[in-house]
Amino acid sequence: MYQPINFIPVYPGQHTLPPLPYPYNALEPVIDRESLKIHHDILHKNYVDNLNKAELALASSRETGNFEFINYWENQLAYNGSGHILHSIYWTIMAPRGRGGQPRENTLRMINWYFGDFNNFENQFKNAAKKVEASGWAILIYHPAFNHLEILQCEKHQNLTQWGCIPILVCDVWEHAYYLDYQNDRSRFVDSWWELINWNEVERRLYLARQGKLPLSI
Ligand code: MN
Repeated sequence: MYQPINFIPVYPGQHTLPPLPYPYNALEPVIDRESLKIHHDILHKNYVDNLNKAELALASSRETGNFEFINYWENQLAYNGSGHILHSIYWTIMAPRGRGGQPRENTLRMINWYFGDFNNFENQFKNAAKKVEASGWAILIYHPAFNHLEILQCEKHQNLTQWGCIPILVCDVWEHAYYLDYQNDRSRFVDSWWELINWNEVERRLYLARQGKLPLSI
């Protein structure tokens, strides 16, 4: 269930890979066991390892005063830090098909208020996901400064954000997320993936976000 944000600081280089909240085959037939295993155990772990590496490299730069490679390491921080955060959310906002429930009251109210109706939201989200240039994500965010939802089309893991937003629902449309099952047919993946959404978790994340709490699951 709900775990409040971890106020124990993560020391440089101490990020860990969160476990999957279900078995590797739980999302079949939409996402097969092998895809999920590689995606979580290898690819997500790479982001965690490289984030740790970047933090330690910069800690060492601070000690020596040598910032010759700061641009490289800052890039690694943004890329791998964002990859780690988005994947940590991604695992939790999916559920075995048929077990994710229906969109809940808060979620629906805020979706209807901003997007007009649920159908408009679904259309925009799916289009955003299908049309991300190269690799990236479709992300439903809540923005505390605007007090409304928005859909962002993230490139890679870190480009085209709105500072301060809280990701609520994220869809990974990097090829590694679907290629084994769907080859190059991202559109079919997005339509199938829609059935995996864990609407209870979406509602919980939105509820916390609106109270100014970070609903991170890492
Ligand atoms: Mn991914």
